[in-house]
Amino acid sequence: MSTARNFQTEVLNLLIQIPEGRVTTYGELARALTGSVRAARAVGQAVARNPQPITIPCHRVVRSTGEVGEYGGGVAMKIQLLRAEGVEIAGGKVVDFEHKVFRFEDEQEQLRFLTDRMFGKLTTWLRILGYDTLYAADIPLSRDQEDEDNALAAFAAREGRILLTRDKNLVTSAIRKGVHCVLIKTDGVLDQLQELLQHHVPITLEPVPERCSECNARIRKVAARESALLRHNRYVPQDMIGTWEFWVCDRCGRIYWEGSHWRDIRERLKRLNGNEDCRSDGE
Ligand SMILES: [Zn+2]
Repeated sequence: MSTARNFQTEVLNLLIQIPEGRVTTYGELARALTGSVRAARAVGQAVARNPQPITIPCHRVVRSTGEVGEYGGGVAMKIQLLRAEGVEIAGGKVVDFEHKVFRFEDEQEQLRFLTDRMFGKLTTWLRILGYDTLYAADIPLSRDQEDEDNALAAFAAREGRILLTRDKNLVTSAIRKGVHCVLIKTDGVLDQLQELLQHHVPITLEPVPERCSECNARIRKVAARESALLRHNRYVPQDMIGTWEFWVCDRCGRIYWEGSHWRDIRERLKRLNGNEDCRSDGE
């Protein structure tokens, strides 16, 4: 009995990871949970028992053929919900299905970081690049230095995070725990990103509106019907509401858009990419 309930919970936990504007399939959910698509039927039953439709977005689960499939509130409602999130549907099927499918294992392979207290700015930039990055100062740890080091290393090991630090002793103890660790030596954030590349950490230097740079939660696109959310924030350029795209962090409330700050970051990253090219040409 408890096993069935755990399975149900695990399915619901996966459902909340499907981003707005994407879909997944019963098979993908089954593969993520059991390593095989054979559990797809059991997954389908668990999805159908979703106690909180819309909040837990089971409407984002479709058939492996791209057909929309069933929904508790009716197929028409499912299509309406998906369209509202930017998923195009034609002839009962998801348009551009291959690019719309969210595969959990791709997500699990994504780089995740844990940064020590020296790297507030690097933390912000990694989040702007879309990487799940936890900052040591934000996780509750012991005040005693040695304990903090141990706790940081253990935390990185448990969550499969790459630990970025300036502390050689921490690197030694973390590597002993099997943690992927990078000793950062430079001060400027661009130099630090370059160091990651030199250590063969395959980060992509392209800002993406996926993660809150303040609190690390995923951000989501603000729908047209939510414009009140934008009007309540004085720092949002009010004349651009309805013209620009905005994103919101549901955890801390921060609003994002591709403004001048964003363009500045993109330019600086481009120069970094350029430097890299020059360097390899020179070698
Ligand atoms: Zn936030």
